[in-house]
Amino acid sequence: MIQVNKVLPNICKQGSCLSKGVYEFTDYKDGETITLAYSCNKHVDSVNKLLKKIYKGNEGKTETNN
Ligand SMILES: [Zn+2]
Repeated sequence: MIQVNKVLPNICKQGSCLSKGVYEFTDYKDGETITLAYSCNKHVDSVNKLLKKIYKGNEGKTETNN
């Protein structure tokens, strides 16, 4: 059987930047590493802040999507 996997485009997450991502942001959840986003050299800081803002609100909240 042929498997189709969704591939996240590895482009910078910052607004309308769309540069090629050179940094990868990952999180460790439920025993596996998940990729959150990528950022280019210039925006590694702002994307980091953006992700913290997005994901910090969900800390301590358990969500299952099975
Ligand atoms: Zn960028």
